[in-house]
This record gives sequence, structure tokens and C-alpha cells, in this order.
Amino acid sequence: MAVTDLVQGSATLAIALRNFDRASEQLHLDPGTAMVLRQIKRELIVHFPVEMDDGSFTVYTGFRVQHNLDRGPAKGGLRYHPAMTLADARALAMFMTWKSAIVGLPFGGAKGGVIVDPKALSVTERERLTRRLTTELSLLLGSDRDIPAPDIGTGPQEMAWIMDTLSMHAGHSVRASVTGKPTVIGGSEGRHGAVGRGITTVAVQALRDSGIDPTGATAAIQGFGQVGASTAQLLAAAGIRVVAVSDSRGGVHSGTGLDIDALTALKEEGGALTEHGGAETLSNDELLTLPVDLLVPCALEAQITAENAARINARVIAEGANAAVDSDGDAILADRDVLIVPDILANTGGVVASYFEWVQDLQAFFWASGETNARLREVMGRSYDAVRTRARAESVSLREAAYQIAVAQVAEAGDVRGIYP
Ligand code: NAD
Repeated sequence: MAVTDLVQGSATLAIALRNFDRASEQLHLDPGTAMVLRQIKRELIVHFPVEMDDGSFTVYTGFRVQHNLDRGPAKGGLRYHPAMTLADARALAMFMTWKSAIVGLPFGGAKGGVIVDPKALSVTERERLTRRLTTELSLLLGSDRDIPAPDIGTGPQEMAWIMDTLSMHAGHSVRASVTGKPTVIGGSEGRHGAVGRGITTVAVQALRDSGIDPTGATAAIQGFGQVGASTAQLLAAAGIRVVAVSDSRGGVHSGTGLDIDALTALKEEGGALTEHGGAETLSNDELLTLPVDLLVPCALEAQITAENAARINARVIAEGANAAVDSDGDAILADRDVLIVPDILANTGGVVASYFEWVQDLQAFFWASGETNARLREVMGRSYDAVRTRARAESVSLREAAYQIAVAQVAEAGDVRGIYP
């Protein structure tokens, strides 16, 4: 596959660059610094064969992109998705740089993935693909160099295979080489659900800032995967009425609130959300435009655009998925006074908990989940306050304020390090 095929037409990269350019202008970054931060530092494209269960071979394309390493080792997820592109990985790597900077973690940004539909593979095929990908990317990976984590289509099992493969190469267990792994091999209590916990923390604060009492407020969640399902559970635990959820097979709605535990159990058994009794079914478009206090898109990029932004009826949006709202959607929603907690703040709970996992692995000293959760809430609450304070001081949106804080941090790190040689 030609590199040009891999980088074309990424709405996500366009969003990432537009957000960066605006921050760069607002911060009056010098043109040299802006030019460096706008670029990807390093990217590796790999094409590799995997033996399928029937004995045939398939060649897959994967990549790992490192955007910026000025503040520490690269950190970011690995995505298995048929529509994954190198351009998306570039955008998502940039987001990771800003996320770590916003919450003050000593990481740079990375992202990677494979163009594959993981649902079409058996467990053994997924294992062989993951182990071979790890070997191909091992030029870049390592506890103090680049530390992958789960994203769409990957989870704790893939992280366990990555950790095992890197450990086999090293000849000893390298627990800190990957985060989001099962606790039995050095994963952190509290990592599962950390993104949802972070989203819940900032969403509750944003509702209060909008004059809405979170207790009894209504919420709709698009996407019921790792991020969406845990967000639904934690919002419900915070007293928020989750009235609609959806996934790629459709959604369900109940004005009195959905039974999230029952929906989670249904999904775990392989059922569809739409099989849930006592609720009406609804399309994704209907979910996104429901009149609710809080809308949390947790599926894919560019879900709220010029096409539907004028029809959004939520008062607050917390972007669980990266770039769920595109730049046109952002402008329309700003005119309509919808408060948006941007992705680089809202879904940062994952990398915060990953940092906690990495620290515990390096120290071989593990915390109870209560400690992880309390520290996570503290970091997310403090970061939200800093972003809101800057937004008010500068009369800008939460997204602009978040970018200003993050970009300034990374620019300063690059400045004091200087340009080698
Ligand atoms: P996942 O694969 O576990 O879940 C994605 C969900 O979205 C699934 O339920 C899928 O059915 C649903 N979906 C797909 N297309 C849809 C559509 N058109 N309409 C409605 N639902 C649809 O992935 P995830 O890990 O939960 O990631 C979701 C988003 O959160 C991504 O943008 C990802 O980058 C971001 N994110 C993930 C993490 C993490 O740790 N997993 C951390 C930060 C951000």
C-alpha cells in the first residue's frame, strides 16, 4: 500500500491541525516552534504476514506514529479498525501529546494501529497478528521509549500479548512496556473504567457550571464499548439518568432511565442493545439529537458536524471519543451556547490511569483501586478547573483554553531543551 493511500482524507487530522493552528496563533508561538509542533517526529509503517487458521496468509499494514517526545516517552493507544489510516494515527498521536501536557504527565504523544477488522479474526489469529505487530514495532517500543495502551478494537488481552512478546525478546518480564494489561501481570486496579471515570468527573463539573444539578440530569451516550459502557455506569452511579445508549448495531431509549447493568450483561453475552426489554429502539442520529442535559459521544471521530450540529439538543457535550465534534460542528454549537468539554481534557482519564500503571510497574509497588480512583478524580478535577479558569480569563471556549495550556507546555519543553545539535 502506498504512503499516499494511507494519509488521504482524514477529517481527524484536519481537526487536529486546525485546533493546533488556532492555539499557536492565540499564543503567538514563534513560527519555528509552531512548525516543529505541527509536524510528526517519527513514524514507522509495517507490512507483515499473519498465518490464518486455515493455513493461508494475509499481509496486514500497521503503523506507529510518535508526534513529540520533548516531555517524556511516547504514550498512546493501538487501534485495530478496517478504516484506520496513517493520517488518523498522526492526528491521534498529536492529541496524545496535548492530553499528557494538559494533566501534567511526563509523556509525549503516540498512536498506532492495524488496518484490520478484529471481529473477523479468531482469537488465535488476533494473537498471531498482535505478536507479529509487536515484533515489527519493537524498534520503537519500550518502557522508557514508547508505551502502547488499548484503543478501539484492542483491550487487556492484546496488551498482555504485547507485554509477553516484548518480555520474550528481552529475556525478562518488562511490565512497564504497555498499560491497560490485566492486573495479574502488572495492570493497575482501577485502569478499567478510568476513561469513563474521568469523563464523569469533568461532565459533572461542566453540568454544574451550566447551572444544571447533576442529580437527575439526563444523559445520552453514543458508543457502548470500553469508554461508553463504563461512562454509562459511572454517570448512573453519580445520579445522572442515562436515557439513551447506542452502538454500531443501533440504540435504545427510555425516558425513565436505562438499566445499565442489564445492558452491560446483555452485551457481554453477545446480545444487541436493541434486544433490551422495556425501551424503545432509536437510530444514532436520533440519539445524537435527543433533548438531554448531557451528550457523551464515545464511538468514532466526526460524529457532530455541520450536518447535525444545529439539531443537537444537549446543553453540555463531553467528548469521550477523540474529535467527535468537528470544527464546523464546534462553531455552530458555540453560537448556540452548548458547553463542550473537549476530548483532550474529557477522555484523558485513560492516559492518567496508564501513567499510574506505568509508575506502579516501574516501582513494583501496587496501589488499591480506591487510591487510583481518588488520584484520578483529583487530577481530572484540577485540570478541568485550570482549563475553565483560562477559558474565562481569555474569553475563549474550553477547547481553545485546553489547547492553549497544552501547547504552551510542550512549546516550553522544546524551548528549554533546544534544537540538537
Ligand atoms: P471500543 O471499540 O471499545 O468501542 C467503540 C464503540 O462504538 C462500540 O460500542 C461500537 O459498536 C460503537 N460504534 C462504532 N460505530 C458506531 C456508530 N456509527 N454509532 C454508534 N456507535 C458506534 O472503543 P473505545 O476504546 O471505547 O474507544 C471509543 C473512543 O474513545 C475512540 O475515539 C477512542 O480513541 C477514544 N478513547 C479510548 C480510550 C481507551 O482507553 N479505550 C482512551 C481515550 C479515548
